[in-house]
Amino acid sequence: MEDKTPGNFIRQIIEADLASGKHQRIVTRFPPEPNGFLHIGHAKSIVLNFGIAEDYHGRCNLRFDDTNPQKEREEYVEAIKEDVRWLGYQWDELRFASDYFDQLYGFAVELIEKGLAYVCELTPEKMREYRGTLTEPGRESPWRDRPVEENLDLFQRMRDGEFEDGSRVLRAKIDMASPNMNMRDPVLYRIRSGLVHHQTGDSWCLYPMYDFTHPISDALEGVTHSLCTLEFEDHRPLYDWVLDNITIPCHPRQIEFARLNLQYTVMSKRKLTQLVDENLVEGWDDPRMPTIAGLRRRGYTPASIREFARRIGVSKADNSVEMGMLEACIREDLDARAPRRMAVLRPLKVTIANYPEDKEEQLTAPNHPKDDSMGTRPLPFCREVWIDRNDFMEVAPNKKFKRLVSGGEVRLRNSYVIRCDEVVKDAQGEITELICSYDPDTLGKNPEGRKVKGVIHWVSARHGAPATLRLYDRLFNHPTPESDKSVEDWKEHLNPDSLQVIADAVIEPSLTEADVRQGFQFEREGYFCRDADEEGRPVFNRVVTLRDSWAKIEARG
Ligand code: ATP
Ligand code: MG
Repeated sequence: MEDKTPGNFIRQIIEADLASGKHQRIVTRFPPEPNGFLHIGHAKSIVLNFGIAEDYHGRCNLRFDDTNPQKEREEYVEAIKEDVRWLGYQWDELRFASDYFDQLYGFAVELIEKGLAYVCELTPEKMREYRGTLTEPGRESPWRDRPVEENLDLFQRMRDGEFEDGSRVLRAKIDMASPNMNMRDPVLYRIRSGLVHHQTGDSWCLYPMYDFTHPISDALEGVTHSLCTLEFEDHRPLYDWVLDNITIPCHPRQIEFARLNLQYTVMSKRKLTQLVDENLVEGWDDPRMPTIAGLRRRGYTPASIREFARRIGVSKADNSVEMGMLEACIREDLDARAPRRMAVLRPLKVTIANYPEDKEEQLTAPNHPKDDSMGTRPLPFCREVWIDRNDFMEVAPNKKFKRLVSGGEVRLRNSYVIRCDEVVKDAQGEITELICSYDPDTLGKNPEGRKVKGVIHWVSARHGAPATLRLYDRLFNHPTPESDKSVEDWKEHLNPDSLQVIADAVIEPSLTEADVRQGFQFEREGYFCRDADEEGRPVFNRVVTLRDSWAKIEARG
């Protein structure tokens, strides 16, 4: 994993700019709005921006795009910082767009003085009406040709809090007939009074719009390449207009790329917020969420997410990536690195009648079948062990069933071969226990004179520890819940079976010592990761199944 990053059209532009001497040093930035937690789509942007800075010995800032105090919170600022660091990146400078509020105000004054901005008093409804449509030009505001002095005075008074929200805005004077709607005298500033901003408190009641703030913030930081998603392509002329018309020595180049869409989930922060607020998930870090915090709790590693970002690449073409692609990245990572352990999800008691009651052994099991450097672990064995109910049937249903049957033999993984001699049932006919015998001459070697093909996992009943396991499935049962028009509400596509809790699993004793977030392969069951204890019991989340079970389901249609 983590081979060299493949080239892409953005890297080509950067390499050309370095070769031509246009730039000596590349500067990028990752500019999240602190109005929610980061998701896997943001990871694409993070890996792109920080990855470029790393590979070309440049710089990358983390800048909070905090111009809308209504939806933003300090809690999100902290969560975003944690996520970026966890992904393995360190910003050169930590900035807030609000750091520039004074300077932004000054640039707005400059535009007014140049006759390129005016205070408009159209109501929001009127303004929409005057804006025109894609096929019709807009109409000029009656306030468009106000004298500069009047604009300066009104703008100052807007800042001083003399006017109500929505009563006045500052607009750029560009072109009401432009085919690009963003150029039809866009709003640069609006009044938002009575709000407490997480960084600037109550010092402002006038807030700059994204389209004004973003190019200036980029320029003030010396950003060379301002990378953003495709929906901003139509904003680029405005980005350039702002920088062309103020006195600022730097003009970053905006380059757009396709955003990541991932199947079987939703990605917009607005929708993720709804899932959290309506308690449809357990929080931003619910392991089913496509948030970085959720993926972390689920057991994804930073390396697996970076690898995913590399594999999906960067282009201008919008597409929807299969969940299997993300899952393959963590599966490969854990396959190579996660220690093997045994856990029994549906315990069925096995008593080995010919094993001495008072005897206990410490067997030795490798931590990884293909990597000796990972060492071994002790594995206690005794007369009573748990096996999985699914690994026993009185009669084999078909030839493929290589597990334990009445009168048949099977190997206990890393241990002996046992034979099932008797099946104990309760009054309802439910199997409650198997009485078996073991062949003492089969530890680490094949039995004499016969073949035993099946190998099953197990846990010593005297030594094993109870645990809760959470098995996760996809949060939605539709590949594109956001765009499906057959239902009224995308939430109708939530998968009701996305979480299955196994409350009475039994795990190898060594697992009780595992660190939170540590990943394991539970042999034959999947990859699991330790979560915080619940009711004094260890909890493990299933990160991903051993194989891509969805590929089969989807092929069947
Ligand atoms: P959302 O709609 O989820 O809130 P956003 O674009 O409003 O997304 P921001 O916090 O403004 O979220 O995004 C910060 C950066 O991450 C931006 O540069 C944005 O283009 C990028 N980004 C956001 N979502 C994606 C995505 N799905 N794929 C790639 N980049 C993304
Ligand atoms: Mg945004």
